[in-house]
Parts: sequence; C-alpha cells; structure tokens
Amino acid sequence: MCVPGCQEIVARSLSRRAFFRGAGAVGAAFAATQVSPAAAAAPMRFERVIDLTHTLSPDFPTFGGTPGIALNKKFDLAEDGYNFYEWVIQEHSGTHMDAPLHFTKDGLSADALPVEKLVVPLVVIDVTAKAESNPDYQLTMDDIAAHERQHGPLPAGACVALRSGWDKHVSGPKFRNADASGVMHFPGFHPDVAKALLTRDVSGVAVDTMSLDHGASKDFAFHITLLGGGRWGLEGVANLGEVPATGATLIVGGPKIKGATGGPSRLLALV
Ligand SMILES: [Zn+2]
Repeated sequence: MCVPGCQEIVARSLSRRAFFRGAGAVGAAFAATQVSPAAAAAPMRFERVIDLTHTLSPDFPTFGGTPGIALNKKFDLAEDGYNFYEWVIQEHSGTHMDAPLHFTKDGLSADALPVEKLVVPLVVIDVTAKAESNPDYQLTMDDIAAHERQHGPLPAGACVALRSGWDKHVSGPKFRNADASGVMHFPGFHPDVAKALLTRDVSGVAVDTMSLDHGASKDFAFHITLLGGGRWGLEGVANLGEVPATGATLIVGGPKIKGATGGPSRLLALV
C-alpha cells in the first residue's frame, strides 16, 4: 500500500534506487519519506523484513514490575467520530531503547542520536544453550571470540545482540524470573565486555531480556560503561532467532521525544 504521491517521491530519489532494488513497493513506500545521505552511499539489498519488536500492552512485563503503559480512551468513534487514546508510558517498557542519557549526566537523549547510528549491521551472538542451564549467564569476550571465529570480525558500527532465547518466556513469570527475595535471574552482558565493545566501535547492543546487565546485577556496570561511551542499548528484543548471525541490517525506530532517556522502539531487521 502506497500513500498518494509516494511512488513519485521514490522515483525521484535516484540515490535510493539501489537501496530498494530487490525489495517490493511496500518497502519503498515505507522508507521514502526520510533519506539519509549516509544510507544512500551504501546500497543495501534485502528480501525479508523481520519484526524484532514485542507488542507493548499493560500486561507486558517490566523491570520494576508495574505496568509500562496505560491507554485511556479520550474520544470514541461512535460518539465523537474518531478513536483517540491518551498514552501514559514508562520510558523503559516493552521492546525499548536505552539512550546514553539513561546512565550519564549529559549523554545524548534518544532524539539526539544521529540517524546514521540507527541503521546498522546486526550481529547476533547465540548463548541460548548456556542460558538454558544458567539463567544468570553473562556473555563474555570468549563468546564474542567464538562468534568471530565462525562468522568473521564484528563489522564496524554494528549492533551486537545477545540472544539468550529469553523472549520465549515473555508471556510468563520466567521473563522476570524473580526469586523469593525479589532478585531477578535472566542473562545479560558481562561488564568486562562493555569496554571491549567500545574499542570495537559498535553503535549499540541489544538483548532479548529486560536489561543489558544480567537480572541479578546490583550495579548496572555494563550499562554504565557502554552508555557512558555514548552508545545505545536495546532491551526486550524479539525474534533474534529468526535473523542470521551476521549479514542483517537493523533499523532502530527509537523515540524522537525531546530529552527522552529512551523509550519503546520499533525494531526491524532487513535480511
Ligand atoms: Zn531500558
């Protein structure tokens, strides 16, 4: 489905033609409204779009345990001629972004992140077997080295995603996996990895759990180093099992809300 005029916009955008070669009109219509010179300089081809986003609802599990969103109906089709909700959102709910400002005094807010850092190569490091036997598992440099031996070096500017398989628990209590004292147990990145990833020039990282640090972390050490280095994080990511270990392109549809420390985001992988 293409909105009126959008095909013409696409046709005029010569530099974008290579980007859309091999993709359908749906993809063309979707991206025609905002053209980044940097993206145009690096032609991309893709055959499928995979949604890495969970649907956010008041039932979606949150780190703090309270509902992440409320929808209040302000206008109703039958009475007012249209439907319209007011949203009350906790920033860090559902599939969402952590902007550098989340853990720094004067880091970039979500709206200030350069768009060139939001369309990036996606690398998926699979630790599902380790997470299955140890819910407190923390991804280490050994996991990254093993990934690189098999798939080659991390591409410059990549998003490095930790796949623990935890998204399959999203509808039940195991997603938070809180013990009797309230401590949560789910996998995350080991703090030592943060500094190394900064030197590898990643754009950001992603996890399929609720936090970049593992659930039992008390100091958020990975968050502090990585976001302190000006990178973003993505939490509560879905469907990482559907994308290849390397070769996909991630589109981070983060919130453009002035001063936001992050927020619910639409994540799409082009494969
Ligand atoms: Zn967050």
